[in-house]
Amino acid sequence: MSTGPKIGLLGGTFDPPHWGHLWLAELAWQQLGLDKVLFLPVGQPPHKRNQEITAVSHRLQMVSLAIQNNPHFVLDTTDCDRPAPHSTVTLLPLLRQAHPNAHFWLLLGGDSLRDLPTWTDPAQLISQCRLAVLPRPEAMIDWEQLETAVPGIQTAVDLLSGPTLSLSATAIRTWLKEGHTAHYLLPTAVASYITQHQLYQTKND
Ligand code: ATP
Repeated sequence: MSTGPKIGLLGGTFDPPHWGHLWLAELAWQQLGLDKVLFLPVGQPPHKRNQEITAVSHRLQMVSLAIQNNPHFVLDTTDCDRPAPHSTVTLLPLLRQAHPNAHFWLLLGGDSLRDLPTWTDPAQLISQCRLAVLPRPEAMIDWEQLETAVPGIQTAVDLLSGPTLSLSATAIRTWLKEGHTAHYLLPTAVASYITQHQLYQTKND
């Protein structure tokens, strides 16, 4: 492998960012020897068109707070700064322009790997980067099905290993809507931001 930087790409809605995202990034950074991980909040995720998403300004602030103590984690606004549609396959060339010699790994939870065949042009996507995947107990990986849908995908994947966190932004939003607090489900600074801005309360829906 040539000597360019090794960069992890963690795209997501981050609505809100939580320990599951940070743990995925940390495991990839450790196990693949990455130089850095770019956190790439998406403007309007193509697969969440019918769902109300928190304003991008709040999500950017929350990601900044979530990663503020880790010099290897970097907020990158390339995806949310561009016009829709926000597919990953068209994001990669923009990131390539900014990092011409980099080796890219797209970091994914097992649920996202399972759904990858439904993304825009997955074959083209895996020709542009490797995939680093942390399996999630709630989304078992069916390699046969994946290979049928996207031939060659298995050889494009580096599996991460380690304890898994059964935590999702959806579960956290539901929990908050029920009137609970999010302390200990996500970084303290993010929990405080959510409280301060009264995010994820039923009255804001
Ligand atoms: P939502 O519940 O709103 O769909 P999410 O928690 O899955 O959100 P996203 O921002 O959509 O978070 O996900 C970004 C990436 O992080 C995806 O690849 C997803 O699989 C991964 N991810 C999220 N939570 C975890 C977790 N607990 N463990 C491993 N990967 C995770």
